[in-house]
Amino acid sequence: MNQLKLLFIVFFNLLLVLNAQAEISKLKIVTTTGMIADIVKNVAGDSAEVTALMGSGVDPHLFKPTRSDIARLNSADVVFYNGLLLEGKMTDALIRVATSGKKVYAVTELLDQEYLLEPAEFQGHFDPHVWMDPIAWKAAVEVVSEKLSELLPEQKAVFEANAQTYFSELDALAKYAETVIASIPQTTRVLVTAHDAFNYFGRRYGLEVMGIQGISTESEAGVRDIEKIVNILVERKIKAVFIESTVSEKNIRALIEGAKAQGHQVIIGGSLFSDAMGKDGKYEGTYLGMIDHNV
Ligand code: ZN
Repeated sequence: MNQLKLLFIVFFNLLLVLNAQAEISKLKIVTTTGMIADIVKNVAGDSAEVTALMGSGVDPHLFKPTRSDIARLNSADVVFYNGLLLEGKMTDALIRVATSGKKVYAVTELLDQEYLLEPAEFQGHFDPHVWMDPIAWKAAVEVVSEKLSELLPEQKAVFEANAQTYFSELDALAKYAETVIASIPQTTRVLVTAHDAFNYFGRRYGLEVMGIQGISTESEAGVRDIEKIVNILVERKIKAVFIESTVSEKNIRALIEGAKAQGHQVIIGGSLFSDAMGKDGKYEGTYLGMIDHNV
C-alpha cells in the first residue's frame, strides 16, 4: 500500500471519529411550541437537535401529551416551554419531568410582571401569548441563550452571537410591523379574531383587539359575545375579520352572518397564525415568517 493511500485512510478514520463525537455532544432539546423551537434552532445552531411537540395547526391550550410525547420529554437533555399556563393541559407532565431532575425552563421567565397583561376573564392568570410581540419575545431568546450557555459553557460565545443575530432580525420585524399597521386608518384599526391571542401585538402596534373566544380556547364563546362584536363591526364599518390556523372558524362565520343581517358586509381578511406557526419548510413555518404573514 502506498503511503498516500495509508495517510488517506488514517485521515478518513479520524474524520469518522470526530464526526461521531460531534453527534454525541449534540444536546437533545424538546420544546412545546414551534415558536420556541425556532428560537432554539437559531441560538443553538449545530449544537442541538430540536423537536417541537406541537406542530403546525396544533392548539397549545388543548394539547394533551401522548405517551410518545412523554417519552420524548423524558429522553431530552433540556425542555423549553412557554409557561404562563399556555400549555394548560401539560402542567402535570412538565412538573413530573422537572421533578425527575430534568432541566425544564419556561422561556417567559424573564418577562417583567409589569409588562404582562392580566385579562379579567383569565381569572388571575397572565396572558401567555407574548410571542406576538417581537420585542418582548427577545426576552425568551435571552432565556434560551442563558440556559444553553450554562449547559455548554464552551459554546457560550457562539450562542450569544447567534442570539444577537436573532435580536436584530426581531428588531427589523418589529419595525416593519409598525410601519405596516400604521398605514391602517385609525378608526378601523381593529383586529377581530377567533380568540384573544393578539393583545400584546395590539398593544405594541396600537391596534384594538377583539377576540370572540377569550384568552384560552378552552372556554366557549356565547351568543352575546358574538352579538357585541357584530354591533361594533356595523357601527365602525369594519371591513374584515380574521380566522386563525389553530381555531375553528365557526364563530367568525357567525360574525359575518350577523353583520350581513344588519346590512353590513364583512369579509375574511385572511388566516392568521396565532398559537402555532405555518408548515415546516415554509417561510410561514418560521417565527419571522409567521409574524410577517400576520402583519
Ligand atoms: Zn391562544
